Amino acid sequence: MTGSLASADVGRHNLALVAGRLAALGSASRSELAEATGLARGSVTALVRRLQGDGLVRETTSVAPSGKGRPRTMLELSGDHLAILTLLVDADRATAVASALNGTRLARRARRHGRPMGDPARVADVAAAVVEELLGELRAGGRRIAEASVVVWAPVGGEPTVVLADTDLDWGVVDLLALLRERSPELDALGRAGRLQLLADTAVAAVAEHLDAGRPSELLYLKSDSGIGGAIVVDETPLDGSHHLAGALGHLPVVPDGARCGCGQRGCLVTVAGPDALLAAAGLDGLAREAGLTVALETFVARIRAGEPRAVAGWHGGRAELARALQILIMAIDPAVIVLGGYLAGLAEDIAAELAAIQPGIDGRRLVPPPVRGSRLGGDAALLGAERTALAKALAEPAALAR
Ligand SMILES: [Zn+2]
Repeated sequence: MTGSLASADVGRHNLALVAGRLAALGSASRSELAEATGLARGSVTALVRRLQGDGLVRETTSVAPSGKGRPRTMLELSGDHLAILTLLVDADRATAVASALNGTRLARRARRHGRPMGDPARVADVAAAVVEELLGELRAGGRRIAEASVVVWAPVGGEPTVVLADTDLDWGVVDLLALLRERSPELDALGRAGRLQLLADTAVAAVAEHLDAGRPSELLYLKSDSGIGGAIVVDETPLDGSHHLAGALGHLPVVPDGARCGCGQRGCLVTVAGPDALLAAAGLDGLAREAGLTVALETFVARIRAGEPRAVAGWHGGRAELARALQILIMAIDPAVIVLGGYLAGLAEDIAAELAAIQPGIDGRRLVPPPVRGSRLGGDAALLGAERTALAKALAEPAALAR
């Protein structure tokens, strides 16, 4: 009995292993899967047959080898009866996106929620309506949701997972998943099945940046679009921490006895290098109020490039604080690469130069700062990362996804 239970466990584990490696590789032959998983070729063949029978894997074009020998049959994820659902709730809008297991985007619906400050129920009304519309379209196409995630531009934590505080929407602790489940029977069903999760944008964006950077052993991600956020990816996973605080880079207390921050501390990085502080220093706070942060930050970057004195002076103050914060983080993490996201992506070279200038060296040896570069994924990083996270979670139990 124990033996057969153990072997059933091994079988399930190996099935998930093969599906997961195929998702990571995108496309692979059976031999490549055997090599990537360390399983015997015969086992891989049997597991692939099972995944094909469940409608999760299909054979694709036979690639003619460069030399002689038979053409190879390649495999990829299929799952034509399934979709991954991602709901993004940012400061302006709710966007629902459905994608296939191989990453192909199937449908997208977006609607502005009007930014009703301090009123999460109204945001949930709009978000749930967008999801219901998208789900209707998917049902018509014969697909069900394999895994769903809700991404917020705020820290999340707790059990069940809740939004801890969203300064863009003036939220305190909000159980957004509960609000959505009250409004959408389908999201409620996914929640009961353990297939609905709440994710913070920085953590999932960092997952996508980590893949894009070639999966380095340690990656430091720092981004700014409303406040300042970040993530520390180690061993493929963003650090969460014992109190969900890891990667809260905007709240590094960098100025002794500095201004009081919303988090309760004094002198946080966001108070001296966040968009509000820098736009005010550059004389662009009025534009931010009238036209929104995105427009104001685009204008800020354009004026820095054009050498407009107030923008440059404001930026140089912020840049010095950001570089010093990175200098501290380098000593704590020793990352292989630093990726800057949000509007900082366009100023990465400038920050890298500042960082190189202030690295003092240790014991006479000059430390070489890790490469600092701007995000190449732009605004899609959070969506891409959420999709990868959801897919990995779904493929951990491939049998539950069978047609
Ligand atoms: Zn703070």
